[in-house]
Amino acid sequence: MERKINLHLFYMGVVTAIVGILITTVSYFNFFRKEVTENLAHECHLVAQCYDSGDPITELDRFTGEDFRITLIEKDGTVLFESSADPQEMPNHLDRPEIRAAIENGTGTDTRFSDTIGTEDHYYALRLNDGNILRVSIQTDSIFALFERSLVIILIIVLGIVIVSMLVSVKLTNNLIAPFRRIPELIGTNSPPEECGIYPEIIPFVEEIRNARNAQSEMRQEFTANVSHELKTPLTSISGYAELIESGMAQGADSVEFAGKIKKESDRMLVLIGDILRLSELDSTGGIPLDEDVDLKAVAEDCKERLSQQAESRGIRITVRGESASVKGSMTELCELVYNLVDNAIKYNRENGNIEIETADKMLTVTDTGIGIPQESIPRIFERFYRIDKSRSRAKGGTGLGLSIVKHIAEHHGAKIDVKSTVGVGTSISVRFQ
Ligand code: ADP
Repeated sequence: MERKINLHLFYMGVVTAIVGILITTVSYFNFFRKEVTENLAHECHLVAQCYDSGDPITELDRFTGEDFRITLIEKDGTVLFESSADPQEMPNHLDRPEIRAAIENGTGTDTRFSDTIGTEDHYYALRLNDGNILRVSIQTDSIFALFERSLVIILIIVLGIVIVSMLVSVKLTNNLIAPFRRIPELIGTNSPPEECGIYPEIIPFVEEIRNARNAQSEMRQEFTANVSHELKTPLTSISGYAELIESGMAQGADSVEFAGKIKKESDRMLVLIGDILRLSELDSTGGIPLDEDVDLKAVAEDCKERLSQQAESRGIRITVRGESASVKGSMTELCELVYNLVDNAIKYNRENGNIEIETADKMLTVTDTGIGIPQESIPRIFERFYRIDKSRSRAKGGTGLGLSIVKHIAEHHGAKIDVKSTVGVGTSISVRFQ
């Protein structure tokens, strides 16, 4: 951004200065031309007065040797007198614009480039009392010659402008950017942004980032506290059972039973740690690329297969219905999403209940005949470690993280989740893809 502003300011400075030079030069040149024409007119009237007062040709001759060229032309265009050439050799002048204008209106002017591009001729013609046309002309530098002659000065000025524009644009950019540079340090502190010399327009952003940071740090603290608590419970049990075995209080069959309990608690911890790691992985990588064509029906069939034993153990029947529904996404993540939904549908179902996985266009719905979710809990079930009935979830081997992972994956796929549930009847969770 800094480089861009710098360059823009620099270009602006250079272009403005060059356009300024051009406009000034052209205006000056036009002014100079006007002066020349006025002088010519004055001179022409002066010569005309002398012409009228004596012998015309002798009078005209008096003016030869001046800077001006004097020409006398007859009404028919024949050149009668020319101060700087032989009039006999000169062509008919009736086609010259200034002569024609003078014949018609009394006076006429014209400016023409000479044969050499560097000069131009200015003409002023006047109809005399005897009907002849008196023309006075002068040669001056053309605008090109003017530029050519001033080229060195113009180049020096342009170079000066470039250097000044460069210095000024660097200084201006630094001044413009300085308040933005203060933002990171400002976000870290709690001082009021109004007092820190930043633009009022960016104060809302600073406040928003501060709020987001605070919320994030609060969430992190809460998460750490939850993780510690969740790990502490199974570890306390493990430590207790191990102590009983160590002290010799549990022997024989008891010690085998306690070892089994230690194994169960350790497994729970492993599952919990697995979920925590998965969430942190999803948090940090933002998910894997979504470039696979995934058939939701095939994913549903696969999950049914993998969870069939778990379902059968409780007499629960899983049915997959609907047509193939292809979405763009990550196969691994979508399998994880459906697996977690069906896993919950088994865990929170009644004995011999039913589960239906239905796929339709860009949509998948898992419906169960389980215990249901109270309306007020529906918005919270996607929170990390939120469980409606802690002991029930724990008994089923739940970690309270399954739906957080589901939500994360759905967001990564731009999908919307919709939960409908009636306590004691069942729950239906739909995931709608774009
Ligand atoms: P858990 O590991 O406890 O299942 P989840 O994040 O998967 O954690 O779910 C959070 C809570 O939402 C669960 O503890 C449970 O109370 C509730 N829940 C999730 N799915 C269902 C369902 N299909 N039926 C009833 N309650 C559910």
